[in-house]
Amino acid sequence: MSKKSVQNGGCPDLCSGSYKAQTQLTEGQVSRLSVSARERISKSSGIPRRCTYCGCVYIREGSISWRIGTVDGGITGEGWSSADYS
Ligand SMILES: [Zn+2]
Repeated sequence: MSKKSVQNGGCPDLCSGSYKAQTQLTEGQVSRLSVSARERISKSSGIPRRCTYCGCVYIREGSISWRIGTVDGGITGEGWSSADYS
């Protein structure tokens, strides 16, 4: 699992998406993640979020963002693509 701190509240992938592009992951989006990724989210005290610009999915825990994958990413395409979870 990669850990990245975010300086400006923007995307942990450091794409062009500003903090305004960061949204909370919807129920529908969560249901499309892998089981292990959903477990990671359910065990976390943080909030699952998604960058609407690049599709990056991550959990925000304090000032740390845990990147877990991508859903419907502009580069990875439609569907779930895991960073570290299968
Ligand atoms: Zn992004």
